[in-house]
Amino acid sequence: MTTSDFDLDVLVFGGGIAGLWALDALRQAGFGALLVESSALGRGQTIQSQSIVHGGGKYALRGVGDMEAVRAIAGMPARWLACLEGRQQPDLHKARIVSKRCMLWLPKGGFFGDLAAKGMMSIVVGAGLLATKPEEMPEAEWPEGLKGSAIKVYSMAEPVIDTGSVLEAFRVRQDGHLRLAKKVEFRGAEVILDGAVVRPGAIVFAAGAGNEDLLRAIGDPPGRMQRRPLTMVMLRGHLPELWAHCVVGGKTHLTITTVRDSSGRAVWQVGGEIAERGANATDLAAFRADAAAEIRRFLPGLKMDGMAIATYPAVRAEAATSGARRPSGVHVEKVRDNPPTLVAWPTKLALAPVLADELVAHVSALTLPTGRFAPPPSSGPAPAVSKPPWEEATWFPVP
Ligand SMILES: Cc1cc2nc3c(=O)[nH]c(=O)nc-3n(C[C@H](O)[C@H](O)[C@H](O)COP(=O)(O)OP(=O)(O)OC[C@H]3O[C@@H](n4cnc5c(N)ncnc54)[C@H](O)[C@@H]3O)c2cc1C
Repeated sequence: MTTSDFDLDVLVFGGGIAGLWALDALRQAGFGALLVESSALGRGQTIQSQSIVHGGGKYALRGVGDMEAVRAIAGMPARWLACLEGRQQPDLHKARIVSKRCMLWLPKGGFFGDLAAKGMMSIVVGAGLLATKPEEMPEAEWPEGLKGSAIKVYSMAEPVIDTGSVLEAFRVRQDGHLRLAKKVEFRGAEVILDGAVVRPGAIVFAAGAGNEDLLRAIGDPPGRMQRRPLTMVMLRGHLPELWAHCVVGGKTHLTITTVRDSSGRAVWQVGGEIAERGANATDLAAFRADAAAEIRRFLPGLKMDGMAIATYPAVRAEAATSGARRPSGVHVEKVRDNPPTLVAWPTKLALAPVLADELVAHVSALTLPTGRFAPPPSSGPAPAVSKPPWEEATWFPVP
């Protein structure tokens, strides 16, 4: 044993929202735990996400009949708010909420979709499943960005967070328990992190798409994970603040969220059907033109002169499902006995607290000598928070 070797209860891989929330919850439950990150905190889906803490409201108007998904997510806005306001652990009061509500709009010409969606909404609301039921807004209160473009606007109590600030809050809370490691080897019951030998009681893989390589490295057969790619769109310029989904006939055509770049400029992240359609686009100039046309179609009131547009590729990494559909909720699975190794995907950023609860329950059911954590004197470099996509993208004039 060298000075850099150490034992601990749980070694968590992946510093996205899943791994960070799980690390926090495991430590609060009394386990000695360390998180290993291979690049930067949140690098991947978390920093790319649109940061909406869903409560299921969108499913109601969208006509999603997956009640299990609605049930799983209904309590998330209240739970996140309690943490963001410092009333519950993990205390994330230093992180920012950018909007307390998210909107839904039915665009002009979407009348039939409206009727179909209303039928589904009454089923979901009637079943008492929704904590964040869409409330119709009087036209005078519509956000500026939707005036002249919508026939109906609904508001939902689904907060939108500044994800970078949430990652930073976890970075500060978990100082000393986060480690950047470029080279990892699994050797029986030992894990070698850039040369340091670690003997964990249990291992959690919560590395998003990176779980695939980690599973391969321990000899697990392929097939546990699926990837659903997207090409996200961004607009930059004189844009009103908007956090809203455009729903037509059961489909979310656009989901728009607003962020500020490091120069204070407003940037819209645009997801939804358009991002799914662009998933495998090879001609990005043509895709940018298609995306701009789609935004004009559903927001005819928006003047896009002088604005810039950009795209970024993203991949949603989740537990494999039949037909590659989105899983209903979080996924935790034991993939090895010695040392006990769990793989986890949250499916949604909003569901990270539920995933952490499940991981704590799984780890608590194992027989581990608790409190084993002897950090080495020089515990290696700590990871920084990842840069967001709008700071790294190449921007073009809107076609
Ligand atoms: C474009 C987009 C928009 C989204 N919008 C929303 C939304 O509005 N609301 C919502 O609830 N959900 C949203 N989601 C889903 C949500 O972002 C993800 O479910 C969630 O962020 C996944 O978190 P994660 O921690 O599992 O993975 P990730 O965020 O991908 O994090 C994985 C981490 O593991 C690290 N890593 C990778 N390999 C290794 C390794 N070998 N060793 C150590 N570390 C490793 C990575 O560097 C990274 O830090 C969105 C997803 C996308 C792609």
